[in-house]
Amino acid sequence: MGAVIGIDLGTTNSEVAVIRDGRPEIIPVDGEPIMPSCVGLDSRGELLVGRVAKNQMAAAPESTILSIKRKMGQTERVAMGDRFFSPEEIASLILASLKTAAEAHLGETVTEAVITVPAYFDDAQRKATQNAGQLAGLDVRRIINEPTAAALAYDADQTSDRTVLVYDLGGGTFDASLVVVQDGVVEVKSSHGDTHLGGDDFDHLLMEHVDRIFFEQHAVHPLADLKAKNRLWAAVEKAKRELSDVPYTRIREEYLIGDLHLDVEIERSAYEDMIRPLLRKTMDSVHRCFKDALMLPGALDKVILVGGASRTPLVAELVKKEINIEPRHEIHPDLIVAMGAAIQAAVIQGQKTKSILVDITPYTFGTGAVGVYNGQLHEDVFVPMIHRGTALPARKGKRFSTMHDGQEAVDVRIYQGEAPLAEDNIFIGNFLVEGLSDVPAGNEIVLTLALDLNGVLEVTAAEKRTGLSKTVTMKTGDGTAAFDLEQAREHLGDWIETESESAGPAPSVDAADEKEQVMAAAKALRKRSTALLNDIDATDASELRALLADSQKAIAEGRYQKLAELNESLSDMLFYLED
Ligand code: ADP
Ligand code: MG
Repeated sequence: MGAVIGIDLGTTNSEVAVIRDGRPEIIPVDGEPIMPSCVGLDSRGELLVGRVAKNQMAAAPESTILSIKRKMGQTERVAMGDRFFSPEEIASLILASLKTAAEAHLGETVTEAVITVPAYFDDAQRKATQNAGQLAGLDVRRIINEPTAAALAYDADQTSDRTVLVYDLGGGTFDASLVVVQDGVVEVKSSHGDTHLGGDDFDHLLMEHVDRIFFEQHAVHPLADLKAKNRLWAAVEKAKRELSDVPYTRIREEYLIGDLHLDVEIERSAYEDMIRPLLRKTMDSVHRCFKDALMLPGALDKVILVGGASRTPLVAELVKKEINIEPRHEIHPDLIVAMGAAIQAAVIQGQKTKSILVDITPYTFGTGAVGVYNGQLHEDVFVPMIHRGTALPARKGKRFSTMHDGQEAVDVRIYQGEAPLAEDNIFIGNFLVEGLSDVPAGNEIVLTLALDLNGVLEVTAAEKRTGLSKTVTMKTGDGTAAFDLEQAREHLGDWIETESESAGPAPSVDAADEKEQVMAAAKALRKRSTALLNDIDATDASELRALLADSQKAIAEGRYQKLAELNESLSDMLFYLED
């Protein structure tokens, strides 16, 4: 049986993933994990999909289509060049590109997929998505909800019941969903959002800000010029992503209009002030979700951040403040939905999956600075910069100020730990930055910590006004003495078996495990089916009853292979009957 791929067909970006060796793996498209959901025709009428189409957006907006997802399920056709296409047709071109990338990556033909859609998608929108898949040569085995996929990606191998808030902030849309996992069944309890709120809006706020500054300097509005506007969009989008990691960034565009150059600095705090009202709106949706599900935030087990724009640090900060749970975002928020779809695809095939492996730092790294501790000013308060649980590699910057007039040097001290006072943490290293400008106190120093996959920490301190900087590489420890495997083995002697002697995994355990999974799935499916019986027409009901009877028999006879097949049939039938 060939691989079944998982696809996140997004408004702004799309991704494709597959399960290999039990784990989800993102398949690159044109060398990148993320493909813009963009389709276009070049000047000779040749088809362009993904990054190349997006690149020509500025030059040829009339032959380029963005955000087709917003039109799924509608009958209106869209213009591309001098031809018109249905939304399904455009979406199928995106899906076909993902399919081709998957085939190149896997070295085999791919004919089956699981595709995700927003929880609020109605029947027509789901059907249109399925049609687009078929058109692309894909048998769409299942359409699943995006928040369900996200929840699956975090907990593929957990069996306990739990309630998860999925906060999904993408390019042009926002959704909050409460997902309940019970008896192995994942269900969206409530979903609320804004179909016109996302990272694009942040870009627009930044563009307007830059436009105002440019006008003050040159008395020209770049936004009034289509070409300049498109260049500006690309530039602010890049700046916005940088501001997720560093406290300042510069936007430079030479000859933006005529011989006028753009050169502005944006501070994260100023940017955060711009977007805060929009993020407040997302929190209103979150609260609506709880209300709709008749649930209190206290009942939550977990909050998951999804969507590229949720990488904005202010998002996690606000969520934490409102819900009082540290949100999870270590699985790349823009890839997690595709990974969840791949997990669902593997489940359909009866494969066992493990949860996603991400490299995260188990420790918090930061520095010491004057700050408030127990309500009093203290000279060495710990300032965390890279938090425990952050996905690696990670790069985080923060600004500090000198304390004294004419201060010539700063001593940068780096610690690992969670204690509020720097001295109570593990000291990693320090260095001196000398030759600072002779200016009054408040001279800004930007400190940047970059932690790589091997735990090597690169620390850079830069005087902002001059750019004078110093970078030092530090080796971080794991806080415990190195473990000597050989020595421990010798120490334990006969108490343990060495690797060669110990048997492989006991197969009986695996089989038992599998039976249990089939049984759990059967139980859940039977429950859902029975609940439906009274609400469907007679023909469907009798077909469903027949399946239920067969499944009952398979359980009684302990025929698990048969039961697994019946589960599949039940699940297919539920897919069409439930909405
Ligand atoms: P969708 O699911 O809506 O298709 P994505 O989840 O891919 O979209 O999110 C795309 C949005 O995320 C864009 O607005 C993009 O600029 C934004 N984005 C991507 N990376 C970052 C980042 N590091 N910081 C802030 N925003 C980001
Ligand atoms: Mg998305």
